[in-house]
Amino acid sequence: MSLIVQKYGGSSVADAESIKRVAKRIVATRKAGNDVVVVVSAMGDTTDELMDLANEVVPGPSGRELDMLLTAGERISMALLAMAIKSLGVEARSYTGSQAGMITDAQHGSARIVDVTPGRVRAALDIGAVAIVAGFQGFNRGTGDITTLGRGGSDTTAVALAAALKADVCEIYTDVDGIFTTDPRMVPTARKIDRITSEEMLELAAAGAKVLYIRAVEYARRHGVTLHVRSSFNDNEGTLVINPVDGESSVEEPLIAGVAADLSQAKITVAGVPDIPGKAAQIFTIVAQAGANIDMIVQNVSAAATARTDISFTLPKTDGAPTLEALEAAKEVIGFETLQYDDQIGKLSLVGAGMRTNAGVSAKLFTALFEAGINIEMISTSEIRISVVTRADTIKEAVRVVHSAFDLDGEEEAKVHGGTGR
Ligand code: ASP
Ligand code: MG
Repeated sequence: MSLIVQKYGGSSVADAESIKRVAKRIVATRKAGNDVVVVVSAMGDTTDELMDLANEVVPGPSGRELDMLLTAGERISMALLAMAIKSLGVEARSYTGSQAGMITDAQHGSARIVDVTPGRVRAALDIGAVAIVAGFQGFNRGTGDITTLGRGGSDTTAVALAAALKADVCEIYTDVDGIFTTDPRMVPTARKIDRITSEEMLELAAAGAKVLYIRAVEYARRHGVTLHVRSSFNDNEGTLVINPVDGESSVEEPLIAGVAADLSQAKITVAGVPDIPGKAAQIFTIVAQAGANIDMIVQNVSAAATARTDISFTLPKTDGAPTLEALEAAKEVIGFETLQYDDQIGKLSLVGAGMRTNAGVSAKLFTALFEAGINIEMISTSEIRISVVTRADTIKEAVRVVHSAFDLDGEEEAKVHGGTGR
């Protein structure tokens, strides 16, 4: 007998029919003799709709009341799901995040889990019931208020519960068959991966892959939780995200795990910066104070004649305006000449643990882009990742050619069930 945590995303519980379908799957898992804890997201695009509604009432809502509003979405789906399971003859109890013991810090909109005390969930399991927990939400002890974990936070709820309950596996049910070599909505020949290491998954998630949220992958990696990503629309095997024990052989692992694209970034170039010690420190202190989460940084060789250089970096588009403003205000102090902003960039990342031990991966990547006539604007690497920035309108083609250059194409077209990708 196993303890299984199952998380169902919004597209898996989008309407009454879907909720009944998911209930049958949960009941089958329970009847097979497992203890089952279910974490559920808000139905379909409910969270976005609630956001839109709040924005109509007052632009840019945030804080306590927004969290109060958004957490209602998950409460709707948890109660409906519990009803559906009961109607199939299996006991079920639904719990809000706070009832389930998801204790967080007080940061509304992006709270971090600080403790998990799932006493009531455990008690429900002890009487043979299925416990249904509302994802994406928690409770701060200091303020006594309800918090949310940030968009896509239900994955994190599921992983945190799986860790606290020492579950055998944390199953993440979604609208695709598992983790793919790239986004199947972008490249239809994307191939499903059977097994991927959490290290590779972390890099892919950080590089823009949307199938799993980065915080959930981090949490799972830190606590040794095995994730199993599967479709709620069929019984296919899905993808296992494993945590190999240190030193465990990885010779069987493929060279490349996948290709990710990110269109949410922009580029700022600070041009004509005096090439003297302390300038980069000044620039990035200001950028940090503006709250920007920067990614790639490139500094040019300075022109001998001017002793000035250009520094470019990428950051989320949403951080663009405040960062530009802060830099502009420090123009005199830093002594740069001009500031350029470009939000028409795309970032492609190639990820694979096999890069550590194989030469020629970057050469192959750059050749594939060259042959497709795609210009590279920036490059950065980690031990198991190579990222390039290109024009936004070439990113889809870039992903396609790189994907096939590394022989990642599958035989048949990937199926995407449901979901609007919103
Ligand atoms: N409902 C929340 C969202 O859409 C949380 C989640 O789906 O994981 O972001
Ligand atoms: Mg959602």
